[in-house]
Amino acid sequence: MVGQNCRLILQRCITAALKSEEQLSSIEQSSMWQAGAKEDREIFWLAVDSRPIPPLLAAHGVTAPLSIEIPERPIAYFVPVAIERLGNAVRELRRTLGEHAYLVIAAENLSGGWIERAIVLGADDVVDPTSADDIAVCLARTRRALERVRAACQERGHLAIERDYLQACIDNLPAPIFFKNADGIYVGCNVAFATFIGRTPDTVVGRSVFEVAPEALASRYQAADDELLQRGGTQVYESEICHSGGTSRHVVFHKAAMQGGDGRVRGIAGAILDITDRKMLEARLIEAAERDPLTNAYNRRKFFELADQIVQRTAGDGHPLAVAVIDVDQFKLINDRLGHAEGDNALRLIASVLEEAIGEGNVIARAGGEEFYALFPNASIHDADIADRMRVEVERSCRHAALSAVAGTVSIGLAGFYPLEETLDEALKRADNALYLAKNSGRNRICVAG
Ligand code: GH3
Ligand code: MG
Ligand code: MG
Repeated sequence: MVGQNCRLILQRCITAALKSEEQLSSIEQSSMWQAGAKEDREIFWLAVDSRPIPPLLAAHGVTAPLSIEIPERPIAYFVPVAIERLGNAVRELRRTLGEHAYLVIAAENLSGGWIERAIVLGADDVVDPTSADDIAVCLARTRRALERVRAACQERGHLAIERDYLQACIDNLPAPIFFKNADGIYVGCNVAFATFIGRTPDTVVGRSVFEVAPEALASRYQAADDELLQRGGTQVYESEICHSGGTSRHVVFHKAAMQGGDGRVRGIAGAILDITDRKMLEARLIEAAERDPLTNAYNRRKFFELADQIVQRTAGDGHPLAVAVIDVDQFKLINDRLGHAEGDNALRLIASVLEEAIGEGNVIARAGGEEFYALFPNASIHDADIADRMRVEVERSCRHAALSAVAGTVSIGLAGFYPLEETLDEALKRADNALYLAKNSGRNRICVAG
């Protein structure tokens, strides 16, 4: 049915192209196509209004097709055209039959100028159907041209198969992949890339990054692309981008400048690896490595890491630092009387109170058991005040939590030190001795090391 419609439309187009308006009605009633030839031929006489095949052409085996359809394979048509319809006829035939048709205009006594005009408008050749020599040469040329067109079609077919195969390959890859030319225009991408940015592949190809990404991101990508095109080689960088689903994703771009055979950079190939899950795992591992799971305070390892950094950074300043060892009083009693779980809760509470009270720039960490370390990078007389405020806050909070009937205070040993004269460990040892004094003199107090 579709083929029938197609044929009808084609007939009308060609008829309109070849005949003047007045002639159309009579022609439509008459048989337009000469019949009787085999359809698998390659050269046909496209006669209009039953115009007979010139005997010289028929003698060379040129016949009329049974039906006319837009050709899918290279076919040559010999078309009789009256001089006054030449321009329209050639244009219309080319437009209607497409590039697979090799069009030979059959017209008698055409001047060189008309022949040139016919070819400019889309005819492939022109023949005088009354000249035996002309026909012989023209047919030879036609067959040769058809061979060339057929070879080109075959080549195009192979290229299309290869292109489809490569596209299927990248479409099956889960990582978003894209290609841009040197002007920054997307020349290809896979389905994963289009989905990633919330588009279909055909609305990506042919566009620039500014047309597919938010302005701020697009400028960043363009700057990175420009740098890569300039420098060549490869480029790897991490970026946080908004997925089409609205969620923020952490990704790594792996890009390469693509060189042509002549060594010139032709564009960029890129792949995006979504590392959001890996980043989250990394963050959890870092957290697990530096925080105490019970209280979420920094652990001993992190305390020494941070303290070492601070000591190194400030050692040359000549200013003293201070460290404190903070120990919960009578903590064993909490465990013994209220149970280990309540002991855990008390530790969490005390850790959060200490963290709140210590103030900006100072470091607090759980050293182990019911003992905490604190570091004050800019030691002054106020450190004793801060430390005492921490002690008072613990006492107040534990009273609120009804722990004070059992225990719920801390004792603190504080020691100031000059990093160029004393190590952190030595200062901690003196703070520990001061803590011992605080314990021995009744607990819930602060002692400053001499
Ligand atoms: P002092 O005032 O002399 O420091 O007395 P204390 O009872 O606090 O000291 P001691 O060293 O005798 O007891 C500390 C207790 O802290 C013993 C230990 O079981 C308990 N402890 C250590 N870590 C944890 C913990 O993570 N959870 C709980 N619930 N208890 C802990
Ligand atoms: Mg204790
Ligand atoms: Mg202790």
